[in-house]
Amino acid sequence: MLFWNLTYFLYVALPIMVLGLIASSWVKRTYQRYSQVRNASGLAGVDVARRILAGAGLSDVTVQVIDGELTDNYDQRNKTLNLSRAVASGTSVAAEAVVAHEIGHALQDHQGFFAMRIRSGLIPAANLGSQAGPLIVIAGLLLSIFTGSGFGFYVALAGLFLFAAVVLFQLVTTPVELDASRRALRLLAENGVIVPQEQEGARRMLRAAAFTYWVALFGAALTLLYYASLVFGNRRSD
Ligand SMILES: [Zn+2]
Repeated sequence: MLFWNLTYFLYVALPIMVLGLIASSWVKRTYQRYSQVRNASGLAGVDVARRILAGAGLSDVTVQVIDGELTDNYDQRNKTLNLSRAVASGTSVAAEAVVAHEIGHALQDHQGFFAMRIRSGLIPAANLGSQAGPLIVIAGLLLSIFTGSGFGFYVALAGLFLFAAVVLFQLVTTPVELDASRRALRLLAENGVIVPQEQEGARRMLRAAAFTYWVALFGAALTLLYYASLVFGNRRSD
């Protein structure tokens, strides 16, 4: 198939896959390492959450325990802090870092953090773009090859714009995540959860997590470039 060639595999799919593996194994390794380092406060993740939420004046946030590993998230639709079982019961530096990061998101939500509002607004477009964007690009390219008309180019261009929403989404996600991690370190310190000796561990946890967002952004941008090269490369050869 024309669009699933060696170029795509070598320059797009392979680097994204390799970087993705590096990112996820870095996160897992760091998480496992600091899961074994007990925190000085002796508080389990769920108690860390309660203390920080109370300290930050976020009494409207519900804490809930969910299944899975590192599935922790803050859901702004129902103002719920979802903690994975191991994080909720863990009395480790890893657990407190994860909890504080997610509460960082709750605080962003509470304060109406600008980048987070944009990010939420982009979710429908990004979902549509990641699913339909590439298909529309390819449909447009096939149309222009088989009919020889200029119309196919505009169809492909529309697909490209749709996929650009994915890049935009990742572009906004990165500062939202970095900000949540900055808030996390501050929340841990301000609420007396963390002692200075633990800070480096928490910082390493958050740094590993941040790398996954850079990789996602890079992957989306690289994919967009590839589709753009197909759309505009095909036009020039007409
Ligand atoms: Zn986050």
